[in-house]
Amino acid sequence: MKISIVGAGISGLATAHAILTRNPDAEITIFEADKRVGGKVWTETSADGYLCEGGVNGFLDKIPKTLELCKAIGISPLPADASAQKRYVYSRGELHKLPEKPPEFLKSRLLSVRGRLRVIYETMAGGTDNPDETLAQFGTRRLGKEAFERLIDPMASGVFAGDASQLSLKSCFPRIHEVEAEYGSLILGLIKLQIKAKREGKNNTHGPGPGGRLTSFDNGMSALTNALAKQLGSRIRLATPVKGISRSGNRYLLQLDNGVEEESQVLILAAPAHAQARMLQALDPALASLLGEIPYPALSVCCFGYRQQRVGQVLDGFGFLVPSKEQRAVLGTIVDSNVFPGRSAEDSILLRSMVGGARTPELALLPDEQLIDRVRSDLKAILGINPEPDFIRIFRHERAIPQYVVGHATRLETIEAHLQRHPGLVLTGNAFKGVSLNDCVVNAWKTALSLIPQPLDGENA
Ligand SMILES: Cc1cc2nc3c(=O)[nH]c(=O)nc-3n(C[C@H](O)[C@H](O)[C@H](O)COP(=O)(O)OP(=O)(O)OC[C@H]3O[C@@H](n4cnc5c(N)ncnc54)[C@H](O)[C@@H]3O)c2cc1C
Repeated sequence: MKISIVGAGISGLATAHAILTRNPDAEITIFEADKRVGGKVWTETSADGYLCEGGVNGFLDKIPKTLELCKAIGISPLPADASAQKRYVYSRGELHKLPEKPPEFLKSRLLSVRGRLRVIYETMAGGTDNPDETLAQFGTRRLGKEAFERLIDPMASGVFAGDASQLSLKSCFPRIHEVEAEYGSLILGLIKLQIKAKREGKNNTHGPGPGGRLTSFDNGMSALTNALAKQLGSRIRLATPVKGISRSGNRYLLQLDNGVEEESQVLILAAPAHAQARMLQALDPALASLLGEIPYPALSVCCFGYRQQRVGQVLDGFGFLVPSKEQRAVLGTIVDSNVFPGRSAEDSILLRSMVGGARTPELALLPDEQLIDRVRSDLKAILGINPEPDFIRIFRHERAIPQYVVGHATRLETIEAHLQRHPGLVLTGNAFKGVSLNDCVVNAWKTALSLIPQPLDGENA
C-alpha cells in the first residue's frame, strides 16, 4: 500500500515515523514544499553563538509520547532550568511575578484586593448555558474582569498569539472546560485533583505555568525534526510542493510542479489548513472552504542578543507576558539564555519577543526597522533595556498559529462528515485538535493506529 504524506513539519515526520514503527515495510513518500524539514520547528545558530528558535521553543515533558519518540530516534531531551518556572506578567507599569502557591497569590499585587477576592469567589460563581464560550466570557464569568484581563488574556497570547474574545474555551483548553463541568469550580476541581494525585503517589504540583517542564535539546528544537528526517532518509522529497489533488478510482493523484503526478492509496495531509484548502479545492470545494476558514494571523519572532556588560542583569526566570490592555506591540518576551544552556555565549543574553497575533497581525508585518523600534521601545519600558542590541534576527510567520475560534468544534464535525466521502484521506496537523508540538506527536500516533490497528508485540489489543 502506497502512503503519501504532504508536509514535513513535526506532524508529517512524526506520522511517518509512527506508521513505520507499526509497519516497517510501509511504502511512504513525504512531500515538503520547503528546502528544509521542520516547518514551524526552525532553529538557527548565528556565527557569534546565539541559538535562535524561529518558531517552536520547546515542549512540555508531561506527555510521554514525545519523550518516547525522542528515545526511539536516539536524541536526549534537555529540561529547562528550574528557574524557568518563574514567570512574569507586565501590568500597570511593572512586572509582577506569577504566584506559584496560594499564599503568594494572596500577597501578589498583580490583582487588586477586590480582584483577588473575586477570584476566591470563583468557588461560588454560576455556570452557563452557552455551549461554546469564548475565553473572555469564561474568564470573566468565573474569575472576574480583572483576573481575565491580567491572567487569562495573556495566557491566550502566550499559547495561541490569540484574541481571547474570539477563542473557544472548549476547543483551546478542553481540560479546563472539563474541570468546570465535572467539579462546578476550577479552584475546587484543582484542589480535588491535587488530593487525588497525592493519594495515587503522583507529583501534580506544578507552578503557575502550564503543567510539566519545558524541554528542548542541546542544539535546539530542530534536533528533533532533523533526527526524524535522518531516519526517514530518501522517503522525504524537499522543495516538492503539492499543487492539487484529484482522485482516480481508489487512488489519489498528487499534482506536483511541471505537470508531474504521483499516486497513492492513502493520502495524509499534514500541511497547515490553508495549504490543505488550496490542495483540496478541485476535489472537494466545500471541504476546502471549511479548512480555509481557520484563521492563521501573522506573528513575528524577534531575537535580540546583548553582551551582558552592556545591559546588566535583565530578569530572572522565563520571561513575561503582556496583557492586551497594556497596548504594547510585544505579546511577550522569553529570556532564552535563562531557560536553556547554550542559547548565547557566556557573556551574552538572548531575548525572544513575539509581535503580532490575532489582535494586531499588522504589527507582525511591519518593515524590519519599524518592528525593531517597536520591540526596543517595549523592552526599554518593561525591562529598562536601552542599548541597541548587538545581534538581531527576525523570523516572520505570515500565517503562524491556527486559531480555534468559537465554532471550531462544529467545524471539525462538518469536516469529519466530509471526510466520509474520501476513504484513505487523512487530515492532520496542528489546525484541528491541539496546537502544541505534543498534540501533533500524539495525533501522529493516533493516525498510525487508525491505519494499522493490528496490535504490535507487547501492545494491548
Ligand atoms: C512562532 C511559533 C512558536 C511556537 N512555539 C511553540 C512552542 O514553543 N511549543 C509548542 O508546543 N508549539 C509551538 N508552536 C506551535 C507549533 O507550530 C506546532 O506545535 C507544530 O510545530 C506544528 O507542526 P505541523 O507539522 O502541524 O505544521 P508546520 O510546522 O506548519 O508544518 C507544515 C509543513 O507543511 C509544508 N507545506 C505547506 N504547504 C505544502 C504543500 N503544498 N506541499 C508540501 N508541503 C507543504 C510546510 O512547508 C511545512 O513544512 C509555535 C508556533 C509558532 C508559529
